[in-house]
Amino acid sequence: MNLTSPRQVQQLMAKHKVTAKKSLGQNFLTDANILRKIVTAAELCPDDQVLEIGPGVGALTVALAEAAGAVVAVETDRSLAPLLAEVLAEFDNVRLVFGDILKLNPATLFPPEGTVPKVVANLPYYITTPIIFHLLESTVQWQLLVFLVQKEVADRMVSPPGNKEYGALSVMIQSFCHVELVGVVPPTVFLPRPKVDSAIVRLVPKPKAISPEIDRCFSLLVRTVFSTRRKNLYNSLRGIFSQLGGEKKVMTALEELGLDPRRRGETLSPAEFYALAAYCGNALNGPTRNQALYRKGDEDEFYQPDQRTT
Ligand code: SAM
Repeated sequence: MNLTSPRQVQQLMAKHKVTAKKSLGQNFLTDANILRKIVTAAELCPDDQVLEIGPGVGALTVALAEAAGAVVAVETDRSLAPLLAEVLAEFDNVRLVFGDILKLNPATLFPPEGTVPKVVANLPYYITTPIIFHLLESTVQWQLLVFLVQKEVADRMVSPPGNKEYGALSVMIQSFCHVELVGVVPPTVFLPRPKVDSAIVRLVPKPKAISPEIDRCFSLLVRTVFSTRRKNLYNSLRGIFSQLGGEKKVMTALEELGLDPRRRGETLSPAEFYALAAYCGNALNGPTRNQALYRKGDEDEFYQPDQRTT
């Protein structure tokens, strides 16, 4: 069967009585060129182990299984099981795991020793950033990660300081990874078609942070600065002086790092945020980076409404 033919995918879905679920961000890729672009960006070879999140009806899974050594595909929608069993019948290098990726420890999906897996996924857009941070904060050392995401999210991931897209997501992702925008993907290649453009991004992780205190401080600084975007550094940080070891310590840090307190915090580069965190981090006892980012009910830029589904 040809999973890059929208008609055949529709017939397959009808046969298995499944419909695309908007609530799960189901926009299935049906374009051979884009699949090829994604696989090329992941530089797959027969030794590679790959994690796919959300196989859907399996078009990307098949492309990955053909190019890599082994694929672990995690899908939350159990109603897709019979369809995926049919599509993947001839591949003995694909392991399907049904469950919510956010509730799984990625480290349990691969052999404990000697594996440096890759991640390739057309992400469900309603939880793009939680999934990315869940993966990056796991103990797994990923080789590289290739994602298809909403274009607007990709723009924020790659944005340098000074752009209007530059924000907490840019700083956090760029502190974890080298990020590259591989290409823009139009709505026409999906079934059903989303309203907005998508983009392929490629992330190569940097070595993990050495200290959890610095890590936590970094999250707190980024979060604080971007929730008070218009304020200068001094006014932005004054609300958390006590958590950072006091006003004197913060002012000394700014001076030694050559950071003008009158400068807007939102202009700091990821490296400058990191340097400040390294200076003040020891004073901090707070939530982990993940908790700091995803406090439930928060209105922050990490929770974007799903604009993608029609
Ligand atoms: N990979 C397929 C493709 O490219 O055509 C489908 C991609 S579709 C945008 C996103 C997929 O992620 C859907 O199959 C959806 O059911 C699945 N999904 C949504 N939330 C998930 C979660 N929390 N854990 C795992 N899979 C999830």
